[in-house]
Amino acid sequence: MATATTVDWEPVIGLEVHAQMRTKTKLFCGCANRFGDAPNTNVCPVCLGLPGSLPVMNGQAFDFALKTALALNCEIARFTKSDRKNYYYPDLPKNYQISQYDLPFSSKGWLDIVLPGGEKKRIGITRVHLEEDAGKLMHDELGGGSGVDLNRAGTPLIEIVSEPDLRSPAEARAYMEALAQLLEYLGVCDCNMQEGSLRCDANVSIRPPGQAKFNTRREIKNMNSFRFVEAAVEKEIAEQKGIYASGGAVRQETRLFNGQTGEIRTMRAKEEASDYRYFPEPDLPPIHVSEEKIAKLKGSTGETPEQRLERYLGELKLSEKDAGVLTEHKEYGDFFEQLLKEGIEAKAAANWVISDAQGVLNDRKLGIESCGVDAQAQAALLKLVQAGTINRATAKEKVFPAMLETKKSAEQIVKDQGLAQVSDSGAIEKTVGEVLAAEAKLVADYMSGKDAVVNALFGRCMKALKGQGNPQVIRPILEQKLKAMRDAK
Ligand code: ADP
Ligand code: MG
Ligand code: ZN
Repeated sequence: MATATTVDWEPVIGLEVHAQMRTKTKLFCGCANRFGDAPNTNVCPVCLGLPGSLPVMNGQAFDFALKTALALNCEIARFTKSDRKNYYYPDLPKNYQISQYDLPFSSKGWLDIVLPGGEKKRIGITRVHLEEDAGKLMHDELGGGSGVDLNRAGTPLIEIVSEPDLRSPAEARAYMEALAQLLEYLGVCDCNMQEGSLRCDANVSIRPPGQAKFNTRREIKNMNSFRFVEAAVEKEIAEQKGIYASGGAVRQETRLFNGQTGEIRTMRAKEEASDYRYFPEPDLPPIHVSEEKIAKLKGSTGETPEQRLERYLGELKLSEKDAGVLTEHKEYGDFFEQLLKEGIEAKAAANWVISDAQGVLNDRKLGIESCGVDAQAQAALLKLVQAGTINRATAKEKVFPAMLETKKSAEQIVKDQGLAQVSDSGAIEKTVGEVLAAEAKLVADYMSGKDAVVNALFGRCMKALKGQGNPQVIRPILEQKLKAMRDAK
């Protein structure tokens, strides 16, 4: 007999993502929109909700939101308005949030994502709308008591609501990653998850396969990492399976995920739209969006991550892996292209950005664009490798770190530290001869047919040349000598 536990439940997931717009100022006032300042220093009567103050819409925030909606293939409403969403909470001094209810400025879009298996899937976008963020409550930071920091109050947010089209925790994560990548490319959000500039609510239900109707969902609020979204959805699915298995019913609820413990707890019974007493915001005029504006913003979206990937694979003939890493973050691809402009060949530039430079920069927690050594200077270093003046390992391990520290040119450092590689075949012949004389055991292994020891011997030669030998000269000399020894036996 089939019991509830043997039913292979199908997860149904829809995500609501809140992204902070990277505008200079807040949504309805001139206060700086900046993270990390001392609490309550970027505030004014408008974002403090003082009586008599009036909001003015930030044009850049509106354009950013519109641009995002266009990039998500949404239909743009020609007439749109703001609404008050009323609730009382200490981080919301006005006791309402200005949001959009029944006439959002965009709807019915989609985002194509690549699933973990490599397959493509189109995820529906229900709507994109603009709203203001609330402040931030501080409980532990003060060492007793609670406080509120209202610097964040009034920060422009776009809310992007997906259709319930996602079918697994991995799909939910892939969608969120693709969305973050797009927002970063558009330049509308810095997607700094630790600072909370991208946050996600996950709506989850499960149904028996073949059932057309969706079951009741529960919503997990406010997660700020891809990993948490995936883990929370996974856990929520397991909990709902447990409820159905024991004959229970899932009630609509709002829940909280604890990233440290992996637990989810119920925060409150789900609120309905009517609980918020929405009504049209009387202090802001409705907005008519012109065709000209739409056309102009459409032209400003630039290359999408997908288009860039296609170009790297097709035109530049990069491997899937290299192209994937370079397009993952816009900064990588942008820098890579600067190296190409400086005359570095695509494969060498890709190796540098993805592997050699990245290794050095990660250790120092630096970004390739913000490390203080620009693309021109890094290209000059790669040209020394191209010309055979130094080898790749020296560039990575010695010259680049010194460039970061001293800001001197690659050429200067190579000269000062005597790092130019040894290409002189006479000197290399001599060293190889000495190494072979000293490594009797390895040579004997080679003689008995173990060809792989050539690599170990190569390493010994390189070490004897202080890492500065030219591999293109060492290897043939080494191989020639070994072969001659074997032939002479
Ligand atoms: P609310 O404000 O009540 O959370 P929204 O319309 O903003 O409602 O968001 C609803 C989200 O829940 C959407 O992402 C939608 O795809 C998703 N959703 C709706 N019904 C279900 C369901 N039965 N199971 C899973 N997700 C659902
Ligand atoms: Mg919701
Ligand atoms: Zn303000």
